[in-house]
Amino acid sequence: MQQIDQATARDQMVQIGELCYQKGYICGLEGNFSLRLDEKTLLTTPAGCNKGRLKPSSLVVTNLQGEPVTKDGISCRPSTELKMHLAAYAARPDIRAIVHAHPAHAVAFTIAGLPLNRAISPEAVLTLGGLGVAPYATPSTQDLVASLQGLLPHNKTIVLAHHGALVLGEDLWDAFYRLESLEHHARTLYLASTLASPRMLSRSQLTRLYEISTVYGMTPSTAEELEHKLNGWLTGPNDQEQ
Ligand SMILES: [Zn+2]
Repeated sequence: MQQIDQATARDQMVQIGELCYQKGYICGLEGNFSLRLDEKTLLTTPAGCNKGRLKPSSLVVTNLQGEPVTKDGISCRPSTELKMHLAAYAARPDIRAIVHAHPAHAVAFTIAGLPLNRAISPEAVLTLGGLGVAPYATPSTQDLVASLQGLLPHNKTIVLAHHGALVLGEDLWDAFYRLESLEHHARTLYLASTLASPRMLSRSQLTRLYEISTVYGMTPSTAEELEHKLNGWLTGPNDQEQ
């Protein structure tokens, strides 16, 4: 695994916190982020502070069990929600960064009991990297970790019912952009729903979209992977096809 310079990683995490706070994805003391520094350590956010006003020096280095690793034994306490990050890293060796936030529109769909996985735009279909919704579980517990297990292998975007979103990425920016796309998708779906019953892309339109996804730098899917991706979206009739 390619290592990232720790000073750069700290600066990036501070920027991610500022953006999440400014864009309303977190408020108060909400949210937590993490990044693999190398095979044995993570950089993560401290518990009990506003993530929009982080300082590079306030971030915490932990081992893969979530225990702080320090030279002098002095460290802030990592978030109690770090457990779900650790589970995600264990399940996905390809993932290097995680952003957990509480995007209001995405969470609102779970509170209303409405599906988020409606195929309404090519952008969401291609950028979310699989969109899963985990049933409600008490935050900071192993129950929440258990609620993620079946979703982690195939989804980079997981909405936690009544709670928030856990978004996986190759780096912090990749995860943040995916969070941004999730909330934009949810907001667009909400707006469409206020106008009329939303129409969705058809299964054949999604198939064509995945066929050309390599032009966006995505790796081609096997037939089995394609089937799994197609089944992850709710599609509609072909009335928009020409
Ligand atoms: Zn949370």
